[in-house]
Parts: sequence; structure tokens; C-alpha cells
Amino acid sequence: MRDSRVERGRLLVVEDEPAIRELLCASLRFAGFTVASAATGTEALTAARSELPDLVLLDVMLPDRDGFEVVRRLRSDGVRVPVLYLTARDGADDRITGLTIGGDGYITKPFSLEEVIARVTAVLRRTRPGSAELLTCGDLSLDVDSHVVRRGPRVVELSPTEFRLLHYLMRNSGRVLSKTQILDQVWSHDFDGDVGVVESYISYLRRKVDSGEPRLIHTVRGLGYMIRP
Ligand code: CA
Repeated sequence: MRDSRVERGRLLVVEDEPAIRELLCASLRFAGFTVASAATGTEALTAARSELPDLVLLDVMLPDRDGFEVVRRLRSDGVRVPVLYLTARDGADDRITGLTIGGDGYITKPFSLEEVIARVTAVLRRTRPGSAELLTCGDLSLDVDSHVVRRGPRVVELSPTEFRLLHYLMRNSGRVLSKTQILDQVWSHDFDGDVGVVESYISYLRRKVDSGEPRLIHTVRGLGYMIRP
């Protein structure tokens, strides 16, 4: 059986208010995360290096140094861990400050635990290599679970066959795939069509994915197709 804790990720909760810190830690552990905690900015800097978290939940108002300063220090030391700020302050200026210095988002107090878990999960899916069933190529992303495909902010609507084709290309991003390979992988083996169907679907995909944007789906003359930024 797989260890769900390893699957869900390691979190560092930084919060000086003991009741909130303990509630967050308990709930996130219950949800399957491995959780370490810190009560001050100084402790947070130490723990961010020693615990190797996949994400830091960081209170902005801390007794010694504020959350923004913690992130500034981490970033200047080359620690790139994703950060979600916890704050009662929800002024627009604070948001801009936090995001500019390398945060991944805000959760405003009072928060619901469901919201915290949903936001943590969303950031981890995006940032944690190996855990995310999110394939990306440049600004194109494909969510394997939800079947949502985006080019930048634009959602790309695909038929099931187009989705399977794009999925196969993106799984093999940077590799040349022959038309025969694509036909075998994307269409069932008893499909008695020829590679012409691959050419047709590549052109459908291009119209939806590459319309008016830098091209991602490339023809490699005489060999096949490749997706790459
Ligand atoms: Ca606080």
C-alpha cells in the first residue's frame, strides 16, 4: 500500500497564535500531510531549511519578523519553496507586496479548513514535481484528472480523441513521434484507418492549441510530430 502522507506532501505551518497553529497542524495531518510547525520568523527560516517542506503556510504577522521578510530571506538564499500567506490583513498593497516577493497566494483569516486544504492541494499540484498530474509545455497545460486544457489563461475545448492525442504528445514532450506510433497509441489497435487520420487530428489540435500563438506542435519533416515550447 502506498503511503498517502508521502503522496500528499510536506508542509511547514508558521503561526505564532498557538490555537490556530495547533488547529492547522492537526487538520492538515488528518488530511494526510506531513506537517512541521514554527512559531516565529526565525524558527521558520530554520525549519524551511531543515524540514525541506513542499510548501510553507506562513502567517504574515509574526512577533519577530514578518512573513514577507521571511520569504525575502528565503528567496535571497535560493530557497524556492512555494508559500501561501495567512493573513488577517487583506489590503491590496499587502497582496502585491507578498506576491512580488515570491509568494504563491493568500489565505485571509478567518479561513475555513476546507479552503486551506483546497488551496494547499492546488499549489502542490502545480509545483511539486512527480505528484502533479498536470502536464505542461510552455504556457500549455493539461490536467490529466479533470481533462482541463489551458493555453495561458484560455481554456481549450477538445474532443476525447483530440485530448488523447494531446496527452500522448505532452507525455512525450520534446520527442519526435512517428505517425504510426501516434496511430497505435491514440487510436485502438483494431482501428483500420491509416495515418491520414493522425494528420487530420494534428491539424484540428493546431487550430485549437496553436491559433495565433507561438507554435508548440511541430512537424518534423519525414519523421512525424513533436510538441515542445
Ligand atoms: Ca500572527
